[in-house]
Amino acid sequence: MKNIYDITLEKLELYFIDNNIKKFKATQVFEWLYKKRVTSFLEMTNLKKEEMELLNNNFTINNLKIISKLEDKDVKKYLFELSDKNKIEAVLMNHDYGNSLCISTQVGCNMGCTFCESGRLKKVRNLEVSEMILQIICIEENLNTRISHIVLMGIGEPFDNYLNVIDFINIVNCNKGLDLGSRHITVSTCGIVPKIKEFIKDGKQVNLAISLHAPNNEIRNKLMAINKTYKIEDLINIIKEYIKVTNRRVTFEYIMLDGINDTIENAVELSRLLRGINSYVNLIPYNETSHIEYRKSKKEKIMAFYDTLKKNNINVTIRKEFGSNLKGACGQLRSLYEEELWSMHI
Ligand code: SAH
Repeated sequence: MKNIYDITLEKLELYFIDNNIKKFKATQVFEWLYKKRVTSFLEMTNLKKEEMELLNNNFTINNLKIISKLEDKDVKKYLFELSDKNKIEAVLMNHDYGNSLCISTQVGCNMGCTFCESGRLKKVRNLEVSEMILQIICIEENLNTRISHIVLMGIGEPFDNYLNVIDFINIVNCNKGLDLGSRHITVSTCGIVPKIKEFIKDGKQVNLAISLHAPNNEIRNKLMAINKTYKIEDLINIIKEYIKVTNRRVTFEYIMLDGINDTIENAVELSRLLRGINSYVNLIPYNETSHIEYRKSKKEKIMAFYDTLKKNNINVTIRKEFGSNLKGACGQLRSLYEEELWSMHI
């Protein structure tokens, strides 16, 4: 049985029309779910008995189960159990502009980036739309607060779960749903070119971030298996098209790895690659993990890299490090403690 949180407003309207129920009833159901946050169909008191029964017989309304919560000053990490006992994580960060929740899109990940802890657990399955939506609802309920920004940067590759991610965005963005503006939602991808093409066609106005991490194919091949399928030139070309069509600025994420991609020459090459592209580079101090031998670049090297990009007129920020106190305690998603998309400008 589907969870009611899997369904976009449009799909619920069609479902009601197919069942000879007035379309506007779908809006009422959405209000019960997303504004009043009821936990059973029986509480939807403006529905007729047979409408309630139709929902009750065909949908569940189950929430996720929080099985662990770790807290530090500006960061909270949640571990959830899904109905099939798989576990996923989400991380909430406080910022001066609000808070952002970093959401998982899959159980495990198949992209095989060599520096990334999440990929050590191969993809078990995609998350359902409801399992992404409920990460938000569950945490809002737990903290009795509203989440202002959503980033799809948790475990998994959002564009490897494309259709569910699009429905997820529709519900988060919908004014009868979670009602968050497009600019408050960010999708991050390792660069699945055909999916970026599809994303351009779908015309979603959310922010797009690209995990680039290298200025050329030679280095990127070593770090990211996806680069063997979609070369850096193909990725840059599709991003240029994305910017042309959407007129939106793209973020390039660049993890700074000691001795791998952090020289001045690398910075010069990156500047050439990105020249004239409406974008900014977010330099990310690598979050070291005990299972992987990469080390984080020295501070001076990060600063020199930053200066070189600046000199070459590339917009650049350095991501603020988050919750390093929690690092030792966290599992696969330790990287996410450092996520901050709109990082400090220095
Ligand atoms: N698959 C998507 C989203 C998940 S990864 C993507 O590749 O963009 C989210 C971000 O965290 C990516 O930029 C990823 O490269 C980065 N990341 C992974 N491991 C990290 C680590 N140990 N330290 C810092 N960032 C990391």
